[in-house]
Amino acid sequence: MERTFVMVKPDGVKRGLIGSIVARFEHKGFKLIQAKLIEIDTPLAERHYSEHAAKPFFGELVEFITSGPSFAMVWEGPGAVKNARTLIGRTNPSDADAGTIRGDFALSVESNIVHGSDSVESAAHEIQMFFGDQL
Ligand code: GDP
Ligand code: MG
Repeated sequence: MERTFVMVKPDGVKRGLIGSIVARFEHKGFKLIQAKLIEIDTPLAERHYSEHAAKPFFGELVEFITSGPSFAMVWEGPGAVKNARTLIGRTNPSDADAGTIRGDFALSVESNIVHGSDSVESAAHEIQMFFGDQL
């Protein structure tokens, strides 16, 4: 069965959206495998977002993801990676459909409240990075 890595980012945690986001994954039918509140430090942030290291917003991205606790989760289900991305919605909340998490709860790309792995390979990598010692 496929697994994916999903994380409520610091803006979502600060706004009290953990419960609403967890509920959407539960209602869809995913099975929760692991979850924890985590303070991401700069080295972990840089590893997690290494694909964006050359982008002009990389510094902002690292600062943002280390600005407070995040809520990291592993969800399991058929097509978990793709189905989670569908629930989450487009990267820019202005483009995200209503009914998706970003479409319903966020307005700006810098604060789009949730992360979801973008491929089966990156899911395996991110699950290992965040939960390697627990799974
Ligand atoms: P995702 O897979 O949908 O989260 O999107 P990406 O992997 O392309 O980008 C990672 C994260 O970087 C996004 O979720 C946004 O929070 C952030 N991001 C993307 N574009 C910008 C930007 O132009 N400025 C800033 N500050 N953040 C951005
Ligand atoms: Mg991404």
